[in-house]
Amino acid sequence: MDERYDPAVIEAKWQRLWRERRTNTVDVRAVQRPYYTLMMFPYPSAEGLHVGHAFAFPGVDIHGRFRRLQGFDVFEPIGFDAFGIHSENYALKLGKNPKQLIPTTIENFRRQLNRLGLMVDWEHVVDTTSPDYYRWTQWIFLQLYKNGLAVRKKAPVNWCPVCQTVLANEQVIDGECERHAGTQVEQRLTEQWFFTITKYAERLLKNLDWIDWSETTKTAQRNWIGRSEGAEIDFPLAAAPEKTIRVFTTRPDTVFGAAYMVMAPEHAWVDELATAEHRRAVAAYRERVAKMDLVSRRAVKEKTGVFTGAYAINPATQTRIPIWIADYVLAEYGTGAVMAVPAHDQRDFDFAQVFDLPIIRVIAAEGETADTPLAAAYDGDGRLVNSAHFNGTEVEAAKHAITEWLASRGAGQARVEYRLHDWCISRQRYWGPPIPMIYCEQCGIVPVPESDLPVMLPDIEDFRPNASGVAPLARVRSFYEVACPQCGHMARRETDVSDTFLDSAWYFLRYPSTARHDVALDPELTRKWLPVDTYIGGNEHAVLHLMYSRFITMALHDLGFLDFEEPFKRFRAHGLIIKDGAKMSKSRGNVVNPDQYLDQHGADVFRMYMMFLGPYQDGGDFRDEGIAGTRRFLDGVWRLVREHDASARASEALLRATHRAIRKIQDDLEQLHYNTAIAALMTLSNDIKRWGPPDTWVIEALLLMLAPFAPHIAEELWEARGHTTSIFAARWPQFDAALTIEERAVIVVQVNGKVRGRIEVPRDASEESVLAAAQADAAVKAQIDGKPIRRHVVVPGRLVNLVV
Ligand SMILES: [Zn+2]
Ligand SMILES: [Zn+2]
Ligand SMILES: [Zn+2]
Repeated sequence: MDERYDPAVIEAKWQRLWRERRTNTVDVRAVQRPYYTLMMFPYPSAEGLHVGHAFAFPGVDIHGRFRRLQGFDVFEPIGFDAFGIHSENYALKLGKNPKQLIPTTIENFRRQLNRLGLMVDWEHVVDTTSPDYYRWTQWIFLQLYKNGLAVRKKAPVNWCPVCQTVLANEQVIDGECERHAGTQVEQRLTEQWFFTITKYAERLLKNLDWIDWSETTKTAQRNWIGRSEGAEIDFPLAAAPEKTIRVFTTRPDTVFGAAYMVMAPEHAWVDELATAEHRRAVAAYRERVAKMDLVSRRAVKEKTGVFTGAYAINPATQTRIPIWIADYVLAEYGTGAVMAVPAHDQRDFDFAQVFDLPIIRVIAAEGETADTPLAAAYDGDGRLVNSAHFNGTEVEAAKHAITEWLASRGAGQARVEYRLHDWCISRQRYWGPPIPMIYCEQCGIVPVPESDLPVMLPDIEDFRPNASGVAPLARVRSFYEVACPQCGHMARRETDVSDTFLDSAWYFLRYPSTARHDVALDPELTRKWLPVDTYIGGNEHAVLHLMYSRFITMALHDLGFLDFEEPFKRFRAHGLIIKDGAKMSKSRGNVVNPDQYLDQHGADVFRMYMMFLGPYQDGGDFRDEGIAGTRRFLDGVWRLVREHDASARASEALLRATHRAIRKIQDDLEQLHYNTAIAALMTLSNDIKRWGPPDTWVIEALLLMLAPFAPHIAEELWEARGHTTSIFAARWPQFDAALTIEERAVIVVQVNGKVRGRIEVPRDASEESVLAAAQADAAVKAQIDGKPIRRHVVVPGRLVNLVV
């Protein structure tokens, strides 16, 4: 073997050999111990791989390689999330058609991914823009439609005038488009396709109790679902009591204090309710609000609103209360109307103060009465007042009692609400799978027959979105003119495309079945490989991608296509990489380009260095200085193997250290604690120098444990030791638990000759670590009392004396 470790040469060699020998390809049908490890497939931006990928993917790969060494048949596929607005906007910027651009960016991405040395199975790649894939995306749409889970409805949506498309609430940051800082997002009311994910809210929430996911991710999902218990209460209109306005409230106990009502300005009844005298003011206000986006509406501080002139009847008190409209009520949630209880809700309190509306206290805390004045809304515990025969009841009990009382009078019922809203699928853009629907004047909405899939995305010159909000495909007559599949008359295709999040909500289901062109999912392969064993990705996807994936999986389960309802057995969120203490960004000029580091140091050094930056699940701070240390470590391993004497016998101390290292590294790898596993590898290589020489077992254990992190050098050194098969065909080393127990010694600690404490340390602990442990002892610390240590004596295994 070469004297010098040259990453460029050996990495190119092993990447070639892995390809030629199909080392990373799994026979998905034949293998016996399937293990599916998944990384979040990237969207192939033209800028290429960024450092976030270079941190995330190796972390998944290390886990996959570790499982493989444990004897599993590991399937580690990858794909490209290449449809969608990111890709399309980039193409627009370059003045190119995404259809021409995407294949080149995918090629570039493949090359870069390959350089990272991932154990990716290149024979099961998914590309969401390939008709062979989006045909099945459209098929899923049809299944959901047939089962009432895809519906068309009018809804207020966020509209970015620059993107010229609908945005999800999560894409609106402080009222501006996430992609276009400085661009105010508007609100539009349009007909769109929605998936009724809200029907699954309860299940999506309940399953979080048992799925093995990062807690932070589960918390984000719980908050996004936002379950609240309360009541639905009907308020009859004073002018027409047979009509009622329904509200949802989590505080039915305060209904006696409901002093007025507020409706969303876009509520369908507003026009009808507004009296002649108030009609103009109402119309003007509605127009103003329509220009605001939904997110800043939720955050408005200044209270605005107008009176409609109409009144409702409070079903508890039977009194007339005025009906207002105000921007702080959204049509999107609940019923689009609220009962306002200014005494016990701060928002209502502020509103009532601005517009001089009555504030009626209905809860009194300890020591207060019905007449105690309120300086602000009171939302704490207490007993009911001003509430007829409920006076004196505690808040919690009153919630149930009042709900039941209203129900018995036909004026309300208990109800659970969710913050989660239906998933808007329609995008008025070009770069996505056409939604497979047809509108016929005779037959209405007609789904495209499954046998006609895919509805191909046509090649068009002008794919730019425009301000009309009409999709680019609506300008292509040859696309939208189609014979109705039911009656044969000329009909019109849907011209919107579907949201990219639909592409990514099922890609992991497709990987094992990529060879099947006649079905979306091969039943046998799906049973064998799914659900995914370990999925690792960024927590920024906690609520969109990960929630939608769960929903699609549940829906396909209910439709009989899957026999499980949760897609990922284990999900772990990884952390983020920053640079020199700051978030990486182009404007700061501190973006790390992985290619440059791969050129300079090679993949093994780069992978190990990235994983050593900090706990994988927390992230770390990228500093150039650290890389040299990782390189020195690998140089050291290279030398150890080169200089190894096959006839050497390892000392008892070295054998023990190796058993301990195996146990530690194995534990760490199970939990994705890569940084501490690498530290343990480094300790082992130091122990070899200290207690050497290593025997064959020690050297090979070191290589096997290094292999998940630095696969190329591990293969090279494994081969140099005479093996003719891949190191990943070998097995993870076994430790003997009895030999991992550290022998410990109790050491007496003296300060100025007097015994002040006793510490327990490993028998072979170094002088520095014994001194450090002695000074850390609480009793000893108290004696030293911050004074400098002038002298010290260490008797190994017995005594420390500190002179201060
Ligand atoms: Zn935008
Ligand atoms: Zn028809
Ligand atoms: Zn991402």
